[in-house]
Amino acid sequence: NAYLGAIDAANGSLTAFVAVGYDKARSMAKASDERLAKGAGGPLEGVPLGIKDLFATEGDHTQACSRILDGFRPPYESTVTANLWADGAVMLGKLNMDEFAMGSSNETSAYLPVKNPWRAEDSSTDLVPGGSSGGSATAVAANLCAAATATDTGGSIRQPAAFTGTVGIKPTYGRCSRWGVVAFASSLDQAGPVTHTVQDAAIMLKSMASLDPKDSTSSDVPVPDFEAAVERGVKGLTIGIPKEYRMEGMSDEIDTLWQNGIAMMKDAGAEIRDISLPHTKYALPAYYIVAPAEASSNLARYDGVRYGLRESGKDITDMYEKTRAAGFGDEVKRRIMIGTYVLSAGYYDAYYLRAQKVRTLIKRDFETVFDDGVDAILTPATPSAAFPIGDNERHVDPVAMYLNDVFTVTVNMAGLPGIAVPAGLNAQKLPLGLQLIGKPFDEETLFAAGRVIE
Ligand code: GLN
Repeated sequence: NAYLGAIDAANGSLTAFVAVGYDKARSMAKASDERLAKGAGGPLEGVPLGIKDLFATEGDHTQACSRILDGFRPPYESTVTANLWADGAVMLGKLNMDEFAMGSSNETSAYLPVKNPWRAEDSSTDLVPGGSSGGSATAVAANLCAAATATDTGGSIRQPAAFTGTVGIKPTYGRCSRWGVVAFASSLDQAGPVTHTVQDAAIMLKSMASLDPKDSTSSDVPVPDFEAAVERGVKGLTIGIPKEYRMEGMSDEIDTLWQNGIAMMKDAGAEIRDISLPHTKYALPAYYIVAPAEASSNLARYDGVRYGLRESGKDITDMYEKTRAAGFGDEVKRRIMIGTYVLSAGYYDAYYLRAQKVRTLIKRDFETVFDDGVDAILTPATPSAAFPIGDNERHVDPVAMYLNDVFTVTVNMAGLPGIAVPAGLNAQKLPLGLQLIGKPFDEETLFAAGRVIE
């Protein structure tokens, strides 16, 4: 009731939630109380969560914040959310996001943009919470839920976490089942939590992760007690500092943030090592080929026949065209067109195949440094703090928006785990985040190192 009250009070201005399930939340909470009264209960018993609109929740609003899914109510539950409910969590409602998770500012949502609860000192300008999981980040930062689910294809958990002073982890590809998560780019998509603390993230991820026969890419790897790793510290670990992440034009505030993070690691007993990940500069362009290619294929199912919106047309082709024209927003259309182009005969070899090869090189860069004894890699999470809603440069030039992901996409391309942790405020008193990148299935080291920084 306290969280539902907080949502009622603040959501009108923040638009973090796109659907609130008052009755469902109260009945789930009641069932939770009953389990506790009997001395039963799971690790998340009674914990009120917000769920990104990308996760199918049975019978509820699940639209990936797109018009094309207007009226769609899934007849099934995603594996990740089913895992959370099995551990006792309570669902408050569905969270705003960029349409189909395509974006870095939450402004591509078919709903109103989400506002960041933070503002620069002495300023009344509303800022973006980042994207695509902007609703998740704002809802946690503004205390509208105890924690939230999110997804990350190129940075959508870590960048919003950095912009809102929250913790977000993208686990290793395969850690969480993608079953029932609306697909954007299937070889990159992963679910993960956005939380207040590293400890909360460890607890949430333990519940979310599982091997799932319904997702052939989910991994048959034991899910450790992540919480037990949180206070392990970094003594004796080797933390790599990749020189290629010192991008040209890096702002002083980000540089200082990074140096502070390095100092914290050193003080806590880690060895700092300069490393090189030579293919870093190709990650962003390769991502913006692979992700749209997979998206154009995944989004072909939204044809007006099987799901949601249908516009009338004079024949079936006309109906498809009118439905897609009305149902998809501009950014989604741009991705579908790029994806279709790079997959088309004649361009496939030049773009898609080449991007896949680059992806292998990026993965090998990481393998080489990890084989050399590096335990985790420390980088900034974003190139800047949160920027204003409606920022014109980023709207006129989509590539300026894409540049938000320079530090995060490499991790998805290599399938590795990455965590963003709050690492202080800039001169305008806005939060900034640092990122730690780990070895496959070694989220434990990220929790331990993240705890040192938060
Ligand atoms: N901002 C990136 C994009 O627009 C990443 C999005 C995501 O991780 N879902 O593709």
